[in-house]
Amino acid sequence: MSILNNAIDSLVLGLEDFESSNPKRLISCTRNLFAGILLLFKHKLASISPAGSDEALIKQKVLPQVDTDGKVIWKGKGKKTVDVQEIRDRFTSLGIKTHWDRVEKINKFRNDIEHYHTDMSKDAIRQLITDCFIVVRDFITDEIKDDPKKLLGDEAWETLVSVSEVYEKEKEECVKFIDEVVFGSDALYEAIISYNCISCSSGLITVDDPKLPKEDITFVCKSCGQEYVYEQMVELSLGEYFSDDSSYLIDCPECDKKAYIYHEQRCAICEESAEHTCERCGEDIPAEELDGSGFCGWCTHMMNKDD
Ligand SMILES: [Zn+2]
Ligand SMILES: [Zn+2]
Ligand SMILES: [Zn+2]
Repeated sequence: MSILNNAIDSLVLGLEDFESSNPKRLISCTRNLFAGILLLFKHKLASISPAGSDEALIKQKVLPQVDTDGKVIWKGKGKKTVDVQEIRDRFTSLGIKTHWDRVEKINKFRNDIEHYHTDMSKDAIRQLITDCFIVVRDFITDEIKDDPKKLLGDEAWETLVSVSEVYEKEKEECVKFIDEVVFGSDALYEAIISYNCISCSSGLITVDDPKLPKEDITFVCKSCGQEYVYEQMVELSLGEYFSDDSSYLIDCPECDKKAYIYHEQRCAICEESAEHTCERCGEDIPAEELDGSGFCGWCTHMMNKDD
């Protein structure tokens, strides 16, 4: 059976798992959907591998060989195929595009649910299916140059579309309330609307009363009811948002909370701004040296030496 057929089978199975009323099948739903996406990616790599290369582009090991004409060709060796990171590297270097942010999110969900047996609400899985829908739809259309509805079949396609619509609509409702709050920080706003609930992983988080003063606002997860006070949400969401690049998020020199967004020159909780230019040498104070003293690390060191 071809890789593409396997990919489609896996995706269809995953969607059937979702439709089942047995909650245990949600694990196999996430597993099948993620496997299906990886197989789609591998199909693409296999389909553009040079003829006679034994599908070199999907093999972890690729070795040079001399063919009968004395030409060097690269051939795939062994059974091991590329993993997620290797697919990503090859896509980047080949100019093949997909929504990696969504793919990574699906992968993280799958990993969490398999290894930590995280409780996941049906809303969280809806969100995963929405991400999956967008990845699969665009990849089949743009990279495989085929019709996703035709490939997946009417039933699976219908599930993807309807589940995504429900989720997108609820998400929109949630964001509408959040939009009424003035955060004064673009990063904080982005962090909050992309945050997933700590207890059920759902992205359906909203505010109960946006008219309240900011510090009195309670955030609430519409899927499981988990509540977050303002400060807690700010710290959790920023921590997640800046998890890949923590240098942008530092301990606030004023309130000590890890909520100071360096490039916005402002703390998302107490809203104070520290001095970012060194009073002694006039240079920008780097994130790791910003302590509210108004001096860079070097100047602080030099001044202490003078004492
Ligand atoms: Zn929740
Ligand atoms: Zn602060
Ligand atoms: Zn200085």
